[in-house]
Amino acid sequence: MAQALSAQVSWSVQIGSDASARKTTGFKGHNSICFNNKSWLSTPLNLKAKNIQQLKYQFKVQCTSLQQAGKTKVSVTPLELENAKEPPLHLYKNKQPYTATIVKVERLVGPAAPGETCHIVIDHGGNVPYWEGQSYGIIPPGDNPKKPGTPNNVRLYSIASTRYGDSFNGKTATLCVRRAVYYDPETGKEDPSKNGICSNFLCDSKPGDKVQIAGPSGKIMLLPEDPSATHIMIATGTGVAPYRAYLRRMFMEDVPTYRFGGLAWLFLGVANSDSLLYDDEFTSYLRDYPDNFRYDTALSREHKNKSGGKMYVQDKIEEYSDEVFKLLDGGAHIYFCGLKGMMPGIQATLKRVAEERGENWDEKLSRLKKNKQWHVEVY
Ligand code: FAD
Repeated sequence: MAQALSAQVSWSVQIGSDASARKTTGFKGHNSICFNNKSWLSTPLNLKAKNIQQLKYQFKVQCTSLQQAGKTKVSVTPLELENAKEPPLHLYKNKQPYTATIVKVERLVGPAAPGETCHIVIDHGGNVPYWEGQSYGIIPPGDNPKKPGTPNNVRLYSIASTRYGDSFNGKTATLCVRRAVYYDPETGKEDPSKNGICSNFLCDSKPGDKVQIAGPSGKIMLLPEDPSATHIMIATGTGVAPYRAYLRRMFMEDVPTYRFGGLAWLFLGVANSDSLLYDDEFTSYLRDYPDNFRYDTALSREHKNKSGGKMYVQDKIEEYSDEVFKLLDGGAHIYFCGLKGMMPGIQATLKRVAEERGENWDEKLSRLKKNKQWHVEVY
């Protein structure tokens, strides 16, 4: 059984930040990808900037001025997990889950978002450790309606925090859960009897409630070993969960054994600006780490694509396809996470772009898979 883990938290502040928050404006250069006068094909960058925005958020730290305090990382005491060669897997089985405790449940989206997505922090006491990119299984209470007399089936959720958790002590895990609601196709009215069991259980839970967790599971979405690698992260909706974890590891935590010096580029597709998830965190990284982070959003109900239609995440990728293809050729890892339905549109776009460039997509795709650059977790 996993040993209880602990870590101490401290934090430091560097004075001064002249980086201003902005979204991607484009790359310069032809044979290599250049951004802010740095090459991304061959020369990894060192982190210089540090971030305080999220510290304020997490610790409610009183800061006199963000401008003054500027760049801060949370210094964590490394967990034993940092030394492991393999991620923890299936420490708790579905039939013998760990009983954890809900710490926090918060609505993440604004009033104009279609549907509800919640940020759920779970205290596992350090007993169910995980790596970034893994998932937990949640066994909702009650009987399986399809097999009365047997417990509900497990549902998987990507973990949205680093191994240190939002508490930075290795004892919590965060989930980003969209409430599954059923609308009768004929009446258009919600039918609560058919709402999703586990997502509603999680979004309705309160601090102190118990939750049965299994896992952790999954190896597809782990971060590459090389901390100077390029990470292209494509998400729709809650698919952003593992990327929130990656980005916190890259830009929020100061872990002596993991110094990110690469490029992380997030493409996030949601319905509208009220549906953006963790936008404050991502925007603060843009401000503090402009050389290492790019962030592009596709808001289908607000943005138009080049043909005047709704802007989906694949349209945003297409906008930057030249850079994306060059980065992939240079060894970038590309991750896809979110609803299953996102993949056909993305694949079709990548294939079309490849053909326009005179490349064979099927060959390129099998090369990316063979090189372990291609990571897909859709549901
Ligand atoms: P269920 O009870 O399983 O119902 C499924 C759907 O069927 C719902 O939409 C429900 O409204 C509908 N339904 C129920 N009864 C009927 C009926 N009689 N007729 C017609 N329709 C009906 N989800 C997230 O929100 N965040 C994540 O980070 C996340 N990560 C995942 C990672 C992985 C690897 C996988 C595989 C899945 C992930 N999911 C994630 C999806 C999650 O596991 C669940 O599938 C999702 O929350 C729905 O589960 P539920 O129990 O709420 O719905």
